[in-house]
Amino acid sequence: MTEETEGPIRVVIAGGGTAGWMAAATLIKVMGRAVSIRLVESEGIGTVGVGEATIPQIRHLNRLFELDEAQFLQATNGSIKLGIEFLGWDRPDEAYMHAFGTAGRAIGVAPFRHAWRRGEALGMARPFGAYSFNEVAARALRYHPQAGGGAIPHLVHAYHFDAALYARMLRGLAEQGGAQRTEGRIETVDRDGETGDVQAILLDNGERIEGDLFIDCTGFRALLIGDTLGVGYEDWSHWLPCDRAWAVPSERAGPFRPYTQSIAHRAGWQWRIPLQHRTGNGHVFCSRFIAEEEARDILLANLEGQPQAEPRLIRFTTGRREAAWSHNVVALGLSAGFMEPLESTSIHLIQSGIERLLRFFPDRGDYRLRRDKFNSLTRFEWERIRDFLIGHYKFNRREGESFWDACRAMAVPDTLSEKRALFEESGTIHREGEELFTEEGWQQLFLGQGVMPRSWHPTVEPIDEAELQKLLDIIADAYAARAGKLPGHAEYLEKISPAKESA
Ligand code: FAD
Repeated sequence: MTEETEGPIRVVIAGGGTAGWMAAATLIKVMGRAVSIRLVESEGIGTVGVGEATIPQIRHLNRLFELDEAQFLQATNGSIKLGIEFLGWDRPDEAYMHAFGTAGRAIGVAPFRHAWRRGEALGMARPFGAYSFNEVAARALRYHPQAGGGAIPHLVHAYHFDAALYARMLRGLAEQGGAQRTEGRIETVDRDGETGDVQAILLDNGERIEGDLFIDCTGFRALLIGDTLGVGYEDWSHWLPCDRAWAVPSERAGPFRPYTQSIAHRAGWQWRIPLQHRTGNGHVFCSRFIAEEEARDILLANLEGQPQAEPRLIRFTTGRREAAWSHNVVALGLSAGFMEPLESTSIHLIQSGIERLLRFFPDRGDYRLRRDKFNSLTRFEWERIRDFLIGHYKFNRREGESFWDACRAMAVPDTLSEKRALFEESGTIHREGEELFTEEGWQQLFLGQGVMPRSWHPTVEPIDEAELQKLLDIIADAYAARAGKLPGHAEYLEKISPAKESA
């Protein structure tokens, strides 16, 4: 903190993309009169303009803002997301889904996958996805919030939304709460000569905005944490090698899926994000293995509807800021680092960064220990997500394709190798601390990418074979029957969001 002053802690947010507005709206809602919020953004610079798929934790935020789901989906042209389908990631002609929610039913202490694995070895199990209600409903293009009940689990969902509309909605919430927005370009930053803390940002119109705490939400520019404070960037491109993406919206055509698609190509992958009024598409690729023009052509050749704009190229380096909090600056969003959107984790990392900041919020005294704890927890969270993403590349069987061969051959972090070895030995998965991905997520990644446990938990061994068959069939049959009775995803959205066209 720069000065001893009375009154609310002055929080200055640099940047008004998803990160900036998410921070402004949440801080003002939770901290109330303990803070004053000023946000500076530049329309001339604009936002990155992508970031439209989320994970279920986003619903905690909506709950905090007391947002009604139907209104939220209307305001953002959003749709329901039950998981992500990965096409061609293991072998070119194979597909699996990372569906949210749990799969099957535990047998005593053993998670369902152990019974499934034994059934699979006996040739009596269906593909693992048949035991995930989320996946069964997603593949049938069905959704209803009250789908579960009795032995059927509830559908666990997230959203796809239009990033610009989402930021606009958050801005409304933040401004209603009292956050003050200033349009302008930040040109220089004043620092305290003694402590090195940031004192003020100076705008192109000459305005000087002082603060106690600065939140860097300037995107890839990382104006405060990078340019001003010189905090380094840990490069992870030897593990997550893609470094560019073409992005283009298209007309929505084909089935209205309640899930994201991730389609592997020869040197990268393509996302398809279904919204009410369009589909968001992008091709993330590794420029060492494919030329930009070819990557662009692959994207355009794999759209389901007509493109609505010229494809836009975005360059990036995967990795993270060595410290997300330095001096009195906290980086959120792209200024804190970037991992490709394979599992839609970026917006979540903004959300969890804000939650952590609220927990360790600095006052005008000494907050070094809070900052250090914030940084070590942030590192842990990022590294575990990084491992999960690396697994998609590493565990592939696309032999004879140079990009995928290189991914298979790359050395990976020990934490990932250990997780794989433990799973292969016995189907065991251990989740530590504030790790984001649950056992459910890891098991789908491993099984989907062809990593099979060699054995199963001893408690499923004594189950009689006929009984095991019955158990497996009851679950899969019940899920399929229930999903068949649900309304279609398109129909559901049409009902709650009738004003929007759903062409
Ligand atoms: P930006 O949106 O770039 O905002 C930066 C802000 O800073 C802007 O308001 C800009 O005007 C302002 N600014 C910068 N410099 C100055 C200055 N000098 N003066 C004043 N203002 C300034 N995340 C997901 O969760 N799901 C996804 O599906 C997903 N897909 C992605 C696909 C790609 C290809 C990429 C690159 C990212 C994706 N992300 C995704 C990440 C997601 O887009 C970001 O996490 C999110 O949009 C937050 O961005 P931001 O607010 O940090 O930066």
